[in-house]
Amino acid sequence: MYNLGILNGNICDGFNIYKSNVFIKNGKIDCISDRIFESDKIIDAENKFVTPGFVDPHVHFGLKLGKYTSADDFYSGSKAALSGGVTTVIDFLEPASTIDELHRNFETRRDFANDSMIDFAFHSCIGGSPAFSAEECIEHSVKIGCPSIKIFTTYSDSNRMTEDGFLNSMLRQSKKNGVVILSHSENDSIIREIAKNYKKPVYSDLSDLRPSISEIEAVMRVSLFSILNDGQLYIVHVSSGESIEMVQKILKKHKNVKIESCPQYFYFTKNLVKSKKGYLYTYCPPARSARESEILAYELKNGNIDSIGTDHCPFMKSEKIENKDDYLKMPNGIPSLGLTFSLINTLNRNMIQSVRLMSVNPAKIFGLYPEKGTLLPGTDADITIIDDEKQFIVGNAPGNCDYSPYEGIDVNGKVEKTIIHGKIAYENDKIFVKKGEGKFIHRNPIVWG
Ligand SMILES: [Zn+2]
Repeated sequence: MYNLGILNGNICDGFNIYKSNVFIKNGKIDCISDRIFESDKIIDAENKFVTPGFVDPHVHFGLKLGKYTSADDFYSGSKAALSGGVTTVIDFLEPASTIDELHRNFETRRDFANDSMIDFAFHSCIGGSPAFSAEECIEHSVKIGCPSIKIFTTYSDSNRMTEDGFLNSMLRQSKKNGVVILSHSENDSIIREIAKNYKKPVYSDLSDLRPSISEIEAVMRVSLFSILNDGQLYIVHVSSGESIEMVQKILKKHKNVKIESCPQYFYFTKNLVKSKKGYLYTYCPPARSARESEILAYELKNGNIDSIGTDHCPFMKSEKIENKDDYLKMPNGIPSLGLTFSLINTLNRNMIQSVRLMSVNPAKIFGLYPEKGTLLPGTDADITIIDDEKQFIVGNAPGNCDYSPYEGIDVNGKVEKTIIHGKIAYENDKIFVKKGEGKFIHRNPIVWG
C-alpha cells in the first residue's frame, strides 16, 4: 500500500517526457510504473506535467540592508515558494570576515530559518578584508555544511568586496576541497568612477551608475580565474545577454563556469527603471537595454544559461517610495519567488529545459542531487504538478510584499500542486503544511562531474 499515487501524468525529469504513474511511500518516491498500485490517496494528473520540485538557489529572506529588512522571512517565503512549485531554497549567511563570525552567522541564520515549511540550505558569504585565509574559509564552510561560498567583486563602499588575489586563491582551492564559489560580478572601480559624476543620484540613474561594461568585464575576469585554476565558479544574476555572449565567444562554454540569470532580466529594461514607477524596479545589477534582454532570452533558448535563481529580495512599496529622491538610501531588490516557472516557461516553452534550469541543474551544481532535482526511486518525494495549458495574468506577489513588479503580465503555465516529502503542501492557492516542517540540508563537499 502506497501513501500517495500520482496517476497518468506526463513525467518530465529534465531529460525525457513520458506518461506514467508515480508512487510514494514514507516521504520518498518508491517507483514510477505503468501499473497501478493501491494508494491511500490518489492524484489524477492526466494532461498535467509531473516534475521534480524546483530548487531556487538564490533567495534573501529577512536580509538586512541598512534600516530595512527584506519583506519575506522563511515562513512567508516558503509560502511564496510553494505557490511556485519551489520545494528547496538556498539562502545566504551574512558576510563574514573572521571564522568566529562565520560560525556565528551560521547559527543565527539557522535559528532564523526555524519557521521554514520547505527544506533549505545556505551559501556561506565573505565580507571585505577577511582575517582568514582562503583555505580556512573553505574548511569551515564545509564544516558547517555550506560548501558554496559567495563573494562580491564590488560593494567596497560597504566593505563587502573581495580582492582579486583572494578570489584567485579561493578558485584555486575550490575543486580539490569540494566548494563552489558564487560571484556577484561587477567592476567596482568602474562604478566608483562613474559615481563621482553624481551629487545625489536618484533611482532612474541606476542603470547608468552600474553599466553593462562593469558586469561584462567582471564576468570575464572571474571566469578566467576559474578556468585557469580548474575551479568551480557560479556567476549569480547575470543581467546582460552581452556578458554571456562574450563568455561564449571568447572563453567558450566552459565546465569551470556556470551561469545563473533571474526572471527580472528577461522581463524588465532600463527604460522602465527610468520611468515614473521605476523605483519599484530597483535591483543590482540593474535592468539593461531591450537588446541585451533579447540576447539573454536567445542565450536561454540556446542552453547557455545553467540555472535560474530569483535573487528574491522584496521591499515594501513605501520603503521604495520614501527613497525615490535619494538612490543611495534605496533598498535594492524585488520579489520574484513563486513566479519563476510561469515566467521562464512563457519565454522558452520548453518543459525539459525549464526543469533542467530550475531543478536538475541547481540541485547538481550545489550538491543537493540526487535527493533533490530528480524523480528517482529512493529520493525525497518533492514534486511539482503543472498545468502547462493554463494562462493567467500575474496579480499580487505571493509572499509578504505589497506589490509585484510582474503584475499584469500574461503568462503560460501554472503550478497546480506542490508536494513535499510525499504530502500535498500547496493546492488551489492554499497551503497545507505547518510552520517549521522544512529541514536544514547539511551539504557535503561538491565536485562537479
Ligand atoms: Zn542576491
